[in-house]
Amino acid sequence: MAETNFIHSIIEKDLENQKYGDKVYTRFPPEPNGYLHIGHAKSICLNFSTAAKYGGKCNLRYDDTNPVKEDVEYVSSIEEDVRWLGFEWTERLWASDYFDKMYEAAVELIKKGKAYVCDLTPEEIREYRGTLKEPGKESPYRNRTVEENLALFEEMKAGKYADGEKVLRAKIDMASPNINMRDPIIYRIAHASHHNTGDKWCIYPMYDFAHPIEDAIEGITHSICTLEFEDHRPLYDWVLREVGWWPQPPQQIEFARLNLTNTVMSKRYLKALVDDGVVDGWDDPRMPTIAGIRRRGYTPEAVRDFCEKIGVSKANSTVDISLLEHCVRDDLKEKVETRNVVFDPIKVVITNYPEGQSELCEVENNPQVPEMGTRQIPFSRELWVDGADFMEVPVKKYFRLFPGNEVRFKGAYFITCNEVVKNEDGSIKELLCTYDPETRSGSGFEGRKVKGTIHFVDAATAVPVKIRQFDYLMLEDENGEKTMNPETMREITCYAEPAVAEAKAGERFQFFRHGYFIAEPKLFSEDNLLFNEIVGLKSSWK
Ligand code: ATP
Ligand code: MG
Repeated sequence: MAETNFIHSIIEKDLENQKYGDKVYTRFPPEPNGYLHIGHAKSICLNFSTAAKYGGKCNLRYDDTNPVKEDVEYVSSIEEDVRWLGFEWTERLWASDYFDKMYEAAVELIKKGKAYVCDLTPEEIREYRGTLKEPGKESPYRNRTVEENLALFEEMKAGKYADGEKVLRAKIDMASPNINMRDPIIYRIAHASHHNTGDKWCIYPMYDFAHPIEDAIEGITHSICTLEFEDHRPLYDWVLREVGWWPQPPQQIEFARLNLTNTVMSKRYLKALVDDGVVDGWDDPRMPTIAGIRRRGYTPEAVRDFCEKIGVSKANSTVDISLLEHCVRDDLKEKVETRNVVFDPIKVVITNYPEGQSELCEVENNPQVPEMGTRQIPFSRELWVDGADFMEVPVKKYFRLFPGNEVRFKGAYFITCNEVVKNEDGSIKELLCTYDPETRSGSGFEGRKVKGTIHFVDAATAVPVKIRQFDYLMLEDENGEKTMNPETMREITCYAEPAVAEAKAGERFQFFRHGYFIAEPKLFSEDNLLFNEIVGLKSSWK
């Protein structure tokens, strides 16, 4: 990462002061309860590139301390996504491997008189906690003796109590202006099987207690998280200070999470879309998941570029999704070959071109990158052109096909439209045109200019392809209010030059003058020439 940011400034100061010696250890700590999304990509890029920038380490740590919500099914998707983005972790770790250490840390707090077992019900605890304006009330169980607390906590662990009957709370300050410091719960009872530890535990640590300990055990130096945790930082520091096992504990640094227009990123919401069948799985090309954008045809380079461009800030804001699309276009424009594909096709008949004859025209594979070479496309008497390239009655400044006008067919000839032939229902049957044999492309014909250049495919050899076009899952009004978009996908049939049939699943192209497309990574085959639209050609990004 060439860019620098406020987190890097903190790290550089720490290096200068040798706060952690020369160590810069970060981690990406997903909870395995869903697929990763583009917001996680920001955190992944930040954590892994920061470690790389300072020659440090970055762990992939599963934050699997909540037994009921998590599923190992998500683990392989998370690893695939991190690697696809181009990163490799130093170690792959599980927070649940530290349950013994966390339990010991809790016992340590009890022994120091810094934690107590509380019998209040969850409702009572909420009530006693007070509000932003009013201080909380102390629990009647707050002054239990160390011995009593140790015995009760042991009994909680042994399974003597039901879920919710007792909790372990940190003894901090019920009058603290920071509600997170009003004797937060650090352990709760949950008689639930854990994917890693099975039935060994029926008490599980709360996130705010577990996370700092996970970081400290791994020797993390800079624990980067999102802004919602800013108010939790005093508790993070309190836990590490009071447990006291680490002379130079990690420090938490918060940054603003990524929000995108027209996009919802909560895993819970995305899971509902999958479960309700609104989309076709977590990797549906409309999903903002990493698996979805990969299948859509976005590249890891584009996502990384996007994450770098948006930078890291301390204030929440919403990024326009057109910036992400701009990065995709920008990455693909010099990478992929063009192909001629005709949308909403209209037949063109070249009346002065001999019947039964055909020829090959040379076109560039990427007009912006001459080194990508050329290919040959067939041309004959009957061709297809885009519906949008013809207007019977042209509007002002329309330079493409209309009766009486001459245009250039890219790679072939100058062609004049002479007559429109219609079907009985008034729709267009075909355009009768003539070509000028003197204007063969590349022959250097001079002295005559045409204002419009369009593309075509040869009708005799054209292959029909299916194209899926997508719209955002969420509509958004000018106040940022989001609603489900009822119409987010349509499939159209287009005519393509014959080379398109030889594409491989996952291969990307620019369909000339239309946009970027990918041969559907999962479904494309010889018998199913299906493409996803990645992004159109025109940018709305300012
Ligand atoms: P969600 O709220 O979408 O379910 P989460 O924060 O619960 O996400 P975790 O698996 O806990 O998901 O997140 C792993 C890491 O990714 C955390 O460090 C979290 O801060 C970060 N992260 C999650 N969403 C975003 C986002 N929109 N922008 C930046 N970082 C994010
Ligand atoms: Mg979470």
